[in-house]
Amino acid sequence: MIILKSPRQIERMRAAGRLTALTVAELKKAIRPGITTGDLDALAEEFITARGGIPTFKGYQGFPASICTSINYEVVHGIPGLRQVKSGDIISIDIGVTYDGYVGDSAFTVPVGDVSQETLNLLSVTEEALHKGIAQARVGNRLSDIGHAVESHAMSAGYSVVRTFVGHGIGTKMHEEPLVPNFGPPGRGPRLQEGMVLAIEPMVNMGSGEVRVLPDDWTVVTADGSLSAHFEHTVAITANGPEILTRD
Ligand code: MG
Ligand code: MG
Repeated sequence: MIILKSPRQIERMRAAGRLTALTVAELKKAIRPGITTGDLDALAEEFITARGGIPTFKGYQGFPASICTSINYEVVHGIPGLRQVKSGDIISIDIGVTYDGYVGDSAFTVPVGDVSQETLNLLSVTEEALHKGIAQARVGNRLSDIGHAVESHAMSAGYSVVRTFVGHGIGTKMHEEPLVPNFGPPGRGPRLQEGMVLAIEPMVNMGSGEVRVLPDDWTVVTADGSLSAHFEHTVAITANGPEILTRD
């Protein structure tokens, strides 16, 4: 687990977050009916490498692309390819960027063309749940205060959080300690300290929180076929409260 200490270290972590956020903004602009997930992957890879970054996901445990693209009932880890998104879909994109030795990690879900109000509500509630969790990322709180806030918000809307996949510490590696679950009682786990950096990332399903993995061994989908949304930010815990490093 990283504890940011020097101003130089904090600046480098911020720079990685900034390039991640810029790439997210580019992807959001490009998403429209007819674009393929492979097009989005190529766009992200070119954007990141042109600015001196490295797409962290590419080759990570054998993952074949620079971003994860997960559509509709796909939760996380979808592999980009020839599939076109169409009006009525939702697409989740997860992206990691290594820059000057530090890593930013972020995810978002957006509607493609026209989607139902019910679906838009899932996206809003999931993003709100992320921000409820971030608000708990404060010096002196305990780690599980984050997950408790996330789950409480998702449940209040009648949705379920995914328990199989969780957030994580992040720094010079994408996945560092501690694990950051999106559920559980408050007041448990380590005290949060100034300088910790966490990737907080609720995955929220409209139906049950159960998931399964498709035969490609990567794509995680909801077990009941219900829609799923995913939002993530890399967040530094500072003396002045949480600082979102990947805000786009
Ligand atoms: Mg991520
Ligand atoms: Mg992550």
